[in-house]
Amino acid sequence: MSPAEAAIRIEELTAELNEYNYQYYVLANPSISDYDFDQKLKELEELERLFPQFLDADSPTQKVGGDITQRFNTVRHRWPMLSLSNTYSEQELRDFDARVRRAIGDDFEYVCELKFDGLSISLTYENGVLKRAVTRGDGVQGDDVTANVRTIKKIPNRLRTEGYPELFEIRGEIFMHRPAFQRLNNERIENGEMAYANPRNFAAGTIKLQDSAEVARRPLDCFLYFLNADNRNRLFKNHWESLEAVKSWGFHVCEHTALCANIDEALAFIAKWEKERHDLSYDIDGIVIKVNDYGQQEELGFTAKSPRWSISYKYKAEQVETVFQSVSYQVGRTGAVTPVANLKPVLLAGTTVKRASLHNANEIARLDLREGDTVFVEKGGEIIPKVMGVNMLKRSPDALPIVYPLSCPECSTLLVRKAGEAVHYCPNDEGCPPQIVGRMQHFISRKAMDIEGMGDETIETFYRQGLLRNIIDIYALQDKQDILIGLERFGQKSIDNMLAGIEKSKEKPFEKVLFALGIRYVGETVARKLALHFKNIDVLAAASKAEIEMVHEIGERIAESVTEYFANDIHREQIERLKQHGLKLAVEEKVTKRLGDALEGKSFVISGVFEQFSREELTAIIESHGGKLLSSISGKLDYLVAGDKMGPSKLAKAEKLRIPIISEKELLQLIANN
Ligand code: AMP
Ligand code: ZN
Repeated sequence: MSPAEAAIRIEELTAELNEYNYQYYVLANPSISDYDFDQKLKELEELERLFPQFLDADSPTQKVGGDITQRFNTVRHRWPMLSLSNTYSEQELRDFDARVRRAIGDDFEYVCELKFDGLSISLTYENGVLKRAVTRGDGVQGDDVTANVRTIKKIPNRLRTEGYPELFEIRGEIFMHRPAFQRLNNERIENGEMAYANPRNFAAGTIKLQDSAEVARRPLDCFLYFLNADNRNRLFKNHWESLEAVKSWGFHVCEHTALCANIDEALAFIAKWEKERHDLSYDIDGIVIKVNDYGQQEELGFTAKSPRWSISYKYKAEQVETVFQSVSYQVGRTGAVTPVANLKPVLLAGTTVKRASLHNANEIARLDLREGDTVFVEKGGEIIPKVMGVNMLKRSPDALPIVYPLSCPECSTLLVRKAGEAVHYCPNDEGCPPQIVGRMQHFISRKAMDIEGMGDETIETFYRQGLLRNIIDIYALQDKQDILIGLERFGQKSIDNMLAGIEKSKEKPFEKVLFALGIRYVGETVARKLALHFKNIDVLAAASKAEIEMVHEIGERIAESVTEYFANDIHREQIERLKQHGLKLAVEEKVTKRLGDALEGKSFVISGVFEQFSREELTAIIESHGGKLLSSISGKLDYLVAGDKMGPSKLAKAEKLRIPIISEKELLQLIANN
């Protein structure tokens, strides 16, 4: 293949994979199998390896986090993971039942189970210890995700009872409860991170993360529903018995599993859960019916794709039609604009729906939504339902397309959209009211500075009164007690309480402060990683984009947002003020042991990536010999310790100011010589 051909193919594959990722994660509606996706991804990787000049930092092969582009070891299943034949109709269930009876007679039972909407997992235990966890993959082989699965509390790593086979495989479904999904997803949206379309995608994305510590922080659950072992049929007569046993070994088995004497009882079970499934804390998409007896299961056997002794009945997603009335554009604290469809109120899955998410401008275009349209609305795992499509039959011929606003509905600033991003932003972060208020609300929130005695409404009131314009003002409230006491609904007691809360927040560790600043794309996890890596805000502020990207799982988008943030003088000024107020802007470390004073009175800036030492180690070396670290290059600086990939502007500045630029080796020599 010529480089020109490769370039074209790389571009094609990149566009396709990005579209699939979007369909998968945002629309929850992938149009391609995992397997085909992986094939395309492999092809792209291979081309990028052969033609590294075309490797783009934005390539789908470079994505980390909740993407299906992660690579894990591929493992063959001991017993293939087949799929289930499925149906939406009662008649087909009766046909299934008739086939079963023709094969094994009338003397049998069914086990009816909920069909959990998560991702299937195969767990292998040896001598009671979890050895391997593998995703279904293509049914023959899947991804080895053991490290991640070990973090799920509902899956035992070691069985505490006895009586289980020496070697067995147990299968189940990993899922996330809806309330946890909503809470975590809202956090992601607030942090400017990509939201998941439903709990299933969240669970699937989580299991495929590279960072098991992050997996551990996300509450996953798992129902087990199938046991396999060489001697299984000698231990148990039927599926039901095996489930009882599995439960006693410490596995989570769904309590709603039921034994049914015949197809009518199974149909009654289906009808019952069609209604009651909305009261469950997790999503199910149907019911699975299994012939109970192992001997009878063997008689029935398998087709190439699925067992003949089992079938699933799927519930139709609840969808209603209603009139689309208008779009509201909401501005979040990071300036992200979210279009929301206002609908003629309609009853859906037990609640009245008035609004539905439209995600972004691309989604409006994809739906080809026009004024006055009649739309189909569906309820997934989210509180706010989704517009699935337009009923074209009811569209009037002169319906006008939706025009996405050019300027911010709150402050009239022209909106911007970065290349490759779907979301529009209002760039007026210092002047746009919902951004100002939202940022302060974020700052004081529980996961950030957790300021007691202050709430979202307090912030709004104080903002309206002109008491608060930015986070710094929070720490100046102490000097404004005379104004505070004059405010309605503010007694001395609540003021004291609030001021004590503000004072206490100064004890919050650096990672919380960093998260509280509300830098776009810097959620809790990212803040923790950055804090741990850079140790203090000055070092972080001085870091180049490339240096930030060197941190594990920090991508270009985050790195760019961080450098942009610190390039802004207003932010630097704010950070200085926060320092003066005594907030923790560095990781608290054991006081570095003094090894000497060879560097006494000298100042240093560390920049770039080093061969021998990490930045933390270099920092420790300098400080332990009496040197001081500065955040930026100025005339006062004594040395710039430079590694690879240093920002060109920094280099130019150091050269212009004639600051000595030294390597890590030269730093050591400097210490040795003094
Ligand atoms: P399908 O993907 O529609 O072919 O359905 C098969 C999948 O349903 C299996 O791979 C499982 O992941 C999932 N499933 C959910 N609940 C159950 C259950 N109780 N028994 C068997 N499979 C289940
Ligand atoms: Zn605005």
